Amino acid sequence: MKLNENVQKLPSSYLFDGVNARKRQAQIKWGDKLCDLGVGDVKLPLFKLVADEMKKACDEMTTREGFRGYLPPSGLPELKRAISDDYARKNVRLSPSEIFVSDGGKSQLSGILRLLKRGIKILFPTPCYPAGAEAALLEGNEVVYAPSDGDFIPYPPFGERYDAVFLCSPNNPSGVALDGEILSLWIDYALSSNALLVFDGAYADYVSDDYPSSIYEIPNADKCAVEIRSFSKGFGFTGLRLGYVVIPEKLSTLGALKTRFDGCSNNGVSYVVQRGGLACLSNEGRVLMKKRVSYYKANAEILRVALSQVGIRRVSGDCSPYVYAKCPDDFSDETFCAFLSDKLGVVASPGKGFFQQDGEYFRLSAFADRATIFKAADRLCSLKFAK
Ligand code: PLP
Repeated sequence: MKLNENVQKLPSSYLFDGVNARKRQAQIKWGDKLCDLGVGDVKLPLFKLVADEMKKACDEMTTREGFRGYLPPSGLPELKRAISDDYARKNVRLSPSEIFVSDGGKSQLSGILRLLKRGIKILFPTPCYPAGAEAALLEGNEVVYAPSDGDFIPYPPFGERYDAVFLCSPNNPSGVALDGEILSLWIDYALSSNALLVFDGAYADYVSDDYPSSIYEIPNADKCAVEIRSFSKGFGFTGLRLGYVVIPEKLSTLGALKTRFDGCSNNGVSYVVQRGGLACLSNEGRVLMKKRVSYYKANAEILRVALSQVGIRRVSGDCSPYVYAKCPDDFSDETFCAFLSDKLGVVASPGKGFFQQDGEYFRLSAFADRATIFKAADRLCSLKFAK
C-alpha cells in the first residue's frame, strides 16, 4: 500500500480530538459537573421552524410528485436564490450561479485547495482554525504561518509572494473581526501578487454592525477572493451540515473548475437539509438566529468578565462565541488547560492548536447553556492570579 506521505506532516492528532481526550479524562473525576467549553460545537437545540420544514420535506418525499432524487451538486436553485437575497441585505450583489452549496464550511477549506495547483505557497495568519492549514499540508503545499500583531490583526506581507492566503473574520479563536481598512489592504495585496484570498466567514453571523460580514462588501474583492460560509454556528447545523462557497463571476475559471470537480466527486447536500436551510433564511429564521447568536455572545461576555476579575487581562475580541485569553504567568497553554480541566472541571482548548506559536493562550467556547456558563464563571472566579 502506498500511503499519502503528506499525512505525516500533520500534527499527530487533530486539535479537537486531543481536546475531547482531555474532556473524557476530566469526566472520570467531574462526571456531569464538568463544564465542557472545549470544542466549538453548538449546544442549544434546533429551531422548531427548521425541524418542521425538514419534516414537511420528508413527507413530500413519500409522494410521487414530491419525491426528489439526485439534485444539482451546487445546490437547490431556491436555496441559492435565498442566499443571494441574504447577501443583498448587505448590498452585496451575487448571482445564484456564484454560489456553491456544500456540507458545511470545513469541506470547502480543502475543496478550494483541490482546485489549485499543488506545491504552492500558502499563508496562514495565526492564530487560525487548524483545518485549512492542515488541508493545505495534505495537498502537498508549502504552509507559512504568520503571527498577527498584538491585537490579533493580521497585516499583509507586501513584497513577499504567496499564491493563496487564508483569512478568517471574525476569527476563530481570537474573536477579532477585521475592519474595511484592513480587508482593503489584503485585497490590494492579493491583486498585486496574484494571490487567491480564501475568506472564511464561518462566524459571519457573529460580526457586530461595525465590521463587514462579507469580503464582498469591500471593493475589488470579487476579483481575488472566494468566501466560505456555514449554517453551523448561527443556525445550529453542526450535525445537519450545510454551508456554501462563493466563487465570483470574475473568477469564472475557478468556478468552472469547481463545477467540473463537484461533478465527479460529490452529489451535493441532502434535499431535506437544504429545505431546512431555506427555513433558516426566512425572516422568522433570521430573527431566531440573531437571538441565538446574542445568547452565545452574552455567554462569552460572562466568561470574559470572570477572567478579567481574576487578573487574566489579555482577553480578545467580542465578535464570536469564543473567549481567547492569555494564560497566567508560570503556565503554558497545555499546563493551564490541564489545570482548568483537572482542578476546575472546565475544558478549554490550547492556543498551540490554532498555531499560536508562543504557547501562551487558551480558548473557551461559549457554546453552552447559561447555567453551565455561570458554573464555569464561578469556578474561574475562585482563582487568584497576580494582577
Ligand atoms: N471555519 C472556521 C473558522 C471554523 O471555526 C469552523 C468550525 O469550527 C469551520 C470553518 C467549519 O465549520 P463547519 O464545517 O461546521 O461549517
